[in-house]
Amino acid sequence: MSKNKSSESVKVVVRCRPLNRKEESNGPSGGIVQMDLRLGQVILRNPRASHSEPQKTFTFDAVYDANSKQRDLYDESVRPLIDSVLAGFNGTIFAYGQTGTGKTYTMQGMWLDPEKRGVIPNAFDHIFTHISRSQSDKQYLVRASYLEIYREEIRDLLDPNHATARGLELRESPETGVYVPDLTSCVCKSIKEIEEVMNVGNQARAVAATDMNEYSSRSHALFLITVECGQPGPDGRKHIRVGRLNLVDLAGSERQAKTGVQGERLKEAAKINLSLSALGNVISALADGRSGHVPYRDSKLTRLLQDSLGGNAKTVMVATLGPAQQHYDETLTTLRYANRAKNIQNRPRVNEDPKDALLREFQSEIARLRAQLNHRKWRSKQKKERQDDEGSDPDEDTECEEEEEVEKNAEEYVKREEQRLEREKEAIRGDRSLLADEKQRLLGEKERMMGDLRKEQEATEQLTAKYKAMESKLLVGGKNIIDHTNEQQKMLEMKRQEIAEQFRNEREMQQQMMVQDDETLELRETFTSLQQEVEAKTKKLKKLYAKLQCIKAEIQDVNDEHVRSRQELEQTQNELTRELKFKYLIIENFIPPEEKNKIMSRMTFDAEEDQWKFQPLVPAESKPLQMKKRPTSAVGYKRPISQYARVAITMGTNNRFRAENIMFLELDMNPPNTASLARLRDLNQSFPVDNFPTNDSGVHKSNSWCQNQKSLTSSSSNVSLSACTTAMSESAQ
Ligand code: ADP
Ligand code: MG
Repeated sequence: MSKNKSSESVKVVVRCRPLNRKEESNGPSGGIVQMDLRLGQVILRNPRASHSEPQKTFTFDAVYDANSKQRDLYDESVRPLIDSVLAGFNGTIFAYGQTGTGKTYTMQGMWLDPEKRGVIPNAFDHIFTHISRSQSDKQYLVRASYLEIYREEIRDLLDPNHATARGLELRESPETGVYVPDLTSCVCKSIKEIEEVMNVGNQARAVAATDMNEYSSRSHALFLITVECGQPGPDGRKHIRVGRLNLVDLAGSERQAKTGVQGERLKEAAKINLSLSALGNVISALADGRSGHVPYRDSKLTRLLQDSLGGNAKTVMVATLGPAQQHYDETLTTLRYANRAKNIQNRPRVNEDPKDALLREFQSEIARLRAQLNHRKWRSKQKKERQDDEGSDPDEDTECEEEEEVEKNAEEYVKREEQRLEREKEAIRGDRSLLADEKQRLLGEKERMMGDLRKEQEATEQLTAKYKAMESKLLVGGKNIIDHTNEQQKMLEMKRQEIAEQFRNEREMQQQMMVQDDETLELRETFTSLQQEVEAKTKKLKKLYAKLQCIKAEIQDVNDEHVRSRQELEQTQNELTRELKFKYLIIENFIPPEEKNKIMSRMTFDAEEDQWKFQPLVPAESKPLQMKKRPTSAVGYKRPISQYARVAITMGTNNRFRAENIMFLELDMNPPNTASLARLRDLNQSFPVDNFPTNDSGVHKSNSWCQNQKSLTSSSSNVSLSACTTAMSESAQ
């Protein structure tokens, strides 16, 4: 199937969940999805179409119906991928489908029920069992990270402050591809530890889900596992292979209704599924293979999955379906999407000896600590030997090559040294021939020596602890993990793998045969009579006609979908244009042109963060000169000055608000309605007239409500109340 030797296509499998209780109670019509497990086909029935209309058939690498077991899916479709990751390839599994079709069930499943554990817990088992069974000359380092993308922001689920922290950024390096620089990554030494990491992240998601509506169906979750394996190569040198595994549970693929969305909420809605629609565009661009540009940069998700789609990775996509009638459109969209993804070609390769392998860093750090420790121990051993020589007890001098013995001897030495110093102190105290201050000095000296000794011992202990902690992070093949499984279990597992493999091969062959059947039908047939030939050709014609009808229906469907999405886009565009006009109106009428120009010239677009940003007023490198430079708005004046003040100065009036930005605004008041006018009249009658505030009170009431609507700028001429806003101009610092 692959185009050339180094490339392979994305594996696409489809899974359909059983009807749930609510759907069952809706009617006895049953599902609209049929599956042929042997051929890997999905047959979709359109509940609205007439019976004569042909059903839609799609073929995939594997299909799993409502009765499928988690274990089957894992053994058949995921296990080979995890094996590749353990061999140093990058691997990605992502679940795609409408909300409620079983993406999370497939990826995570039910942790406590061994039969229902999903891809992720099974992968944990797989990875650590593999390590425990591998040869002891292999060293492993396993790390895990957990992130999610919600509204185009990347959040670190293992960071305790992730809810309040700013979204993380993405970087790209030629070596590792796209990565998240500040992402927490936890070294895991056992299944238990990695499950703990997963739990912490899941809890963070659960908290967010209770706070926000529809949260879990709108966020994408990515669990990343990095497995580094060090092993001596045939050249005698140690080589490191790094496999990276992305386990992705995507947001629900259903169309988000955008009715009545405005302003801020519109922008929000546009962001919610941006990643998913960008993913669709990337898949389309890659699948048709003609367009040179693949829009990976359009969203965070597509950037993170850049390698998994058309790059250096092996990828499995699990498309999940629901069997219910009412979701026919969504189910069809999912199947089309999945069908397109089959054509994506990846170019996976083993990541051998990458520069950023943490294992290498760990190994050299461990070697350095060990050397330091050995040196210390050697030093104390030397001292001890010297003492032993002085004490003329040569029999005690043993060869202690073993590290543990060195350690024991060092401890002994420290203890004995302490005792010796203590004894000497006693002797000094008891020695009457010494003067008091001489005694004090000697005692002080001994005290200091003891302090040094203790410090030395503490340092050694610290070093040992650091060394042990560092070393314990590395897993050694066949050593660190106790393998509970006995030989029989191992055999059983192997057999199961073999069966899965066989099943896979069989299906592939069936699929190939089906394709070839159509092609060779003609060649094999020899016709004895004209009648027979006519019959055979009529049969073929019918078959081809049916195919033609299918394709016509498909074209119609695709056209309809295209029109629908175009209408949606037009609607979004109209709403955004309306919004833009509103913002323009405000800018043109309320922001002084000079300020506007200043702001515009300072703004730059940061494509990386997808944000407009202010350039600093003073370039960073000229910071020392900062104070010498006057603000641009203060040319010719002592202080920054507003447009209003400039006009006021030239007119020679109102010096009071020189440094403020003054804007004339009309009072924002509603016209009184008749009811309140009547009440006002009542009040007027119950109070003496001269108690009422009059125009003489100094406050001029604006009567704008009874005027015709005028342009906002011209209305400033009949202003009676001035509102002053504090300076928008830059402060003088
Ligand atoms: P999604 O993550 O796609 O929104 P979920 O994984 O949360 O959907 O599944 C929705 C419900 O359907 C859950 O209650 C889940 O247990 C159930 N479910 C999904 N797939 C299956 C399956 N293959 N077998 C049994 N139950 C399933
Ligand atoms: Mg889910």
